[in-house]
Amino acid sequence: MADVIPFDQRDGSLWFDGKLVPWKEAKTHVLTHGLHYASCVFEGERMYSGRIYKLKEHTHRLFKSAEILGIKMPYAEEEISKACMQACEAQGYADAYVRPVVYRGSEMMAVSAQQTRTHVAVAAWSWPSYFDPETKMRGIRLAISDWKRPAPDTAPVHAKAAGLYMICTMSKHTAESKGYTDAMMLDYRGYIGEATGANIFFVKDGSLHTPTADCFLNGITRRSVMALARLRQIPVVERHIKPEEMSDFSECFLTGSAAEVTPVSEIGPYRFTPGDISRTLMNDYSADVRREVSVVNLNGK
Ligand code: PMP
Repeated sequence: MADVIPFDQRDGSLWFDGKLVPWKEAKTHVLTHGLHYASCVFEGERMYSGRIYKLKEHTHRLFKSAEILGIKMPYAEEEISKACMQACEAQGYADAYVRPVVYRGSEMMAVSAQQTRTHVAVAAWSWPSYFDPETKMRGIRLAISDWKRPAPDTAPVHAKAAGLYMICTMSKHTAESKGYTDAMMLDYRGYIGEATGANIFFVKDGSLHTPTADCFLNGITRRSVMALARLRQIPVVERHIKPEEMSDFSECFLTGSAAEVTPVSEIGPYRFTPGDISRTLMNDYSADVRREVSVVNLNGK
């Protein structure tokens, strides 16, 4: 890790409150509502070959997340989509990870935040898909977290809100300390939920099975992969899945803008063999993200 440059010490520019600013000068005060009270939402997107995959959908979700938390956006969606492109262009990237973030400022420092100003920033950095397809096909190992995805009346589960990641980081750290790559989280009812930053799919008898997204993010990659599967006539079943059903599944993979399609070989005591369906969808997704026009239509939402 010694050669990793901390994120606040990198060169170049990023977009901050309406304009490009020098990267190292994009600072916020320690007394910021977003930092103390998690009044913060964000996005994670990837640019491929100069285009941000599903940019409209990501920007729309950012605005939805802000609306759910009651955070007023001082820009229009088109302005933020443009800012995402500018953040990549400023760094000279054609392939990059893009991180828009929205948070409440320093005007108030208590639970109530009615008078706070909304800050918006977008930064882009290099985050390659590290593994070649064959390495990826070996699959990653997941622990089963003790933390559960909260109920929709306990947390704003459909927002990509910073506060929801507290238990994800805790789950991931515990998993990593035991030698796993990530953790799979059950939901508040005990059904299979998702990984700490990606959705989950299983294969059974040639069909895809994935948990109903009723208490976690209905990922943009999740929806894209379901559409790609249907184009291949692979049946997709969204339903509540009990953890013990994992013994009946042959393949498993994760989906996410950062994770893309990542095969899984192990979840706690359960074993999977990444196979044809994982490989096909991994390749179909890799092809779609680089198309000038995606074959998947999510209608901007
Ligand atoms: N769940 C969580 C908790 C995530 O952080 C992500 C990544 N944004 C996803 C699911 C997948 O969402 P998407 O495919 O839209 O990136």
